[in-house]
Amino acid sequence: MELKVYNTLTRKKEIFNPINPPHVGMYVCGPTVYGDAHLGHARPGITFDIVFRYLNFLGYKVRYVRNITDVGHLENDADEGEDKIAKKARLEQVEPMEIAQFYTKRYLDAMDLLNVLRPSIQPSASGHIIEQIDIVKKILDAGYAYVSGGNVYFDVLKYHNDTHKYGILSNRVIEDMLQTTRELDGQKEKRNPADFALWKKAEPEHIMRWPSPWSDGFPGWHLECTAMSAKYLGDKFDIHGGGLDLLFPHHESEIAQSVCAFGHQPTNYWIHNNMITIAGQKMGKSLGNFITLEELFEGKHKLLEKAYSPMTIRFFILQAHYRSTLDFSNEALTAAEKGLKRLLEAQRNINNITLSNNASSVDIKALIDNCKEAMDDDFNTPIVISNLFEAASIINKIIDGKEKINSEGLEDLKALFNNYLVDILGIKDEQTSNMMPTIEGLVKMILDVRQEARLNKDWAKSDQLRDKLAEIGVKIKDSKDGVSWSLD
Ligand code: ZN
Repeated sequence: MELKVYNTLTRKKEIFNPINPPHVGMYVCGPTVYGDAHLGHARPGITFDIVFRYLNFLGYKVRYVRNITDVGHLENDADEGEDKIAKKARLEQVEPMEIAQFYTKRYLDAMDLLNVLRPSIQPSASGHIIEQIDIVKKILDAGYAYVSGGNVYFDVLKYHNDTHKYGILSNRVIEDMLQTTRELDGQKEKRNPADFALWKKAEPEHIMRWPSPWSDGFPGWHLECTAMSAKYLGDKFDIHGGGLDLLFPHHESEIAQSVCAFGHQPTNYWIHNNMITIAGQKMGKSLGNFITLEELFEGKHKLLEKAYSPMTIRFFILQAHYRSTLDFSNEALTAAEKGLKRLLEAQRNINNITLSNNASSVDIKALIDNCKEAMDDDFNTPIVISNLFEAASIINKIIDGKEKINSEGLEDLKALFNNYLVDILGIKDEQTSNMMPTIEGLVKMILDVRQEARLNKDWAKSDQLRDKLAEIGVKIKDSKDGVSWSLD
């Protein structure tokens, strides 16, 4: 089986062929660091963590770049109004960089709790002003941008009319874009309302500013991703990812910038994760349904019935395919919590399985094949999870003596859980992950001492050790195949 990924640009699944195997370059749009990470950050974080983990599992050497937006970004329109970070800095009377660093750390802490692996490189926009100015110059030289009042704008209509298509990714029609663009401050400097800023002149009260050939100012939001992806992955790389909300204007504009600066599209595969809704509604501060990750982990929000652990959130997100919408509710999260508990209990119980070497064994290989097939089919994590549930039922049957497994089957079972639940889905056992190696070592040591006593026919000591272990919650089971144990 070959890996197939859904390419948003071509709107179909394509076989994944990296430019320079085994190396893979992946760029994902990261957070704007002016506030705490929320539910909306968890989904792209986890989605591209899965892509990263699976490519690693397949043996690719992935350079994963995820940027930190710490300058010049506004939610719907990168061109106008006050910089969010500067605004927050003014309100809180601190340096903008202090705000950016504070929320960057908080974001990474939250991603660590969700067991999202850190990218290979995390460049910040403010650290790449020179590279961004360089790309503005390239686009100006190519004739697709113009200077107006110290600002530099991308000439969308010229680009669109010169056989390129603005709207190729988002499937938007230029005529609609021209008509629907709102009349905003600064529009008079543009040739056309659809033009977007590559460089903005800073107003006197604007704190974050850099010198440039055109004015003291700051780069447009779309530009940073073009500059940083080209710097660390080359001007043509394998995967560009982000949330569907970034399709337009952000990614559409990135394509236009790359075509003008480098003569081609930036990437071969565009991958987008779908959004999380809350009771069917988009999440937004004004709707009162805006939930930060910290509030979720601590259960401190009026919409939450209780706290949900980071692994519950992760499992909840993985139970849906990344291209489907996912609706958040207490019922759905509680169901995810229960399901996860069942899988983790089954995984712990693998240690308690008694082998039946001469018996015919249940077949685990089919489940492993199903999981591989599902991941190869555009990272279909819900199918992987359903196969793991199937394996959990088999484990329970073996424990209950209703099914038999030989040593080869047991190895397959361990590989299935280690590869798919732990390494690829990135689920860790929060309950025991920290202490388990120590506990296992200690129990084994005590069981060795007990075995010695039994060989010496010191039954009193053997029973005493068994009872003492039971007192602290370690249950021992002797059988003709040896000793197994479990935590009560
Ligand atoms: Zn971006």
